[in-house]
Amino acid sequence: MIDLSLTDEQVAFQKLAREFLDKEVVPHRAEWDRRESVDTAIIAKMGELGFFGLTVPEAYGGLGGDYITYCLALEELGRADSAVRGIVTVSMGLCGKIILAHGSEEQKQEWLPGITSGTKLGCFGLTEPDTGSDAGNLKTRAVRDGGDWVINGSKIFITNGTWADVCLLFARTGEDGPRGVSAFLVPSDAPGFERTEIKGKLGLRGQATASLSLEDVRVPASALVGEEGRGFTYAMESLDKGRISVAAGCVGIVQACLEAVVGYSTERTQFGKPLASFQMVQDMIAEISVDADAARLLTWRAASLLESGEAYGTAASKAKLFASEAAVKAANLAIQAFGGYGYVDEYPVQKLMRDARVMTLYEGTSQIQKLLIGRAETGVSAFL
Ligand code: FAD
Repeated sequence: MIDLSLTDEQVAFQKLAREFLDKEVVPHRAEWDRRESVDTAIIAKMGELGFFGLTVPEAYGGLGGDYITYCLALEELGRADSAVRGIVTVSMGLCGKIILAHGSEEQKQEWLPGITSGTKLGCFGLTEPDTGSDAGNLKTRAVRDGGDWVINGSKIFITNGTWADVCLLFARTGEDGPRGVSAFLVPSDAPGFERTEIKGKLGLRGQATASLSLEDVRVPASALVGEEGRGFTYAMESLDKGRISVAAGCVGIVQACLEAVVGYSTERTQFGKPLASFQMVQDMIAEISVDADAARLLTWRAASLLESGEAYGTAASKAKLFASEAAVKAANLAIQAFGGYGYVDEYPVQKLMRDARVMTLYEGTSQIQKLLIGRAETGVSAFL
């Protein structure tokens, strides 16, 4: 039996999240999108409500909640503004969760209370200009010098890059390939660490995406996270979890498209009747509605497996693949249903389309998700 019912606590948190976001984010998102920056005060406000620390133990400032509640919160964030959703999922989901799982007690005490409260932000520095999908071959190098590590290299497309207080940075400390990669915590004020914001993105314009340059950046031995040479494994573990977060955010996009089209099509009339009364408009609504349910169920399934300690990586890939493609499809249909009004920024659906588009690209492109699912089904890797 699969139990699809939500607990009273889960429903209550979802309601709290929706009310908060409808008040604090929805009225501002178009302006934040135009000026390419959210009002960063929203970050601490989200921290106060517990968005960052939902699944983090109370000892580190979190709420100690479950992954379904986390998915519900991320769905609400995705419904409200994906740019804001990404700030949360990268800071805590990718950076904070690696510190929680593999960091020393000192590292946890130094960074987690700040990240869970939203008073500090983390970023996740894996992608480099020449290694995106092939991240295991990254070139940034960390070399031991006495009691320190000295890091040289560059990163690109790093969410929260210019706002973060700390970067969970992946650098090569050993042999070529994934087994030579280690993870480090690099504070943003480390000398030689330059961060440049990438402007002019298609979507997620309210969040800061940056390129990072490291020139002889010196960090103490204690900046190494977990074991030397295990960094790539940590990155892949956190991306498996991150894919559930992205999928949940995409469910929010699909849901937002559904609500927008249902609302608009019942109000707008053509040929003397509401758009909603035309069969071909209902066809679009039905497509979006079914995809919302399917994406949500795949996402909750992956989250439930994670929650119960079972293998969840392939389920996370399936959820991310389906939900991200569904988000792009739903936003495209929403623009179609709005007609010309869908194409201008007075209405929300063009932003949903622009924000949805990156979802099939980051945290593993759709092609990479298919390779992961294909490998799980066949036992044969088609990566190389
Ligand atoms: P490439 O790897 O060059 O891929 C190009 C195309 O080739 C894609 O269609 C891909 O699917 C296809 N391809 C590649 N290899 C194969 C293969 N073996 N088989 C079939 N097809 C293949 N990275 C971070 O580290 N941290 C972040 O916070 C972060 N945030 C991001 C935010 C934004 C807005 C964006 C756009 C990117 C972000 N990224 C981040 C980077 C993102 O994860 C990469 O862009 C993504 O992994 C793809 O890498 P790439 O862009 O180099 O494309």
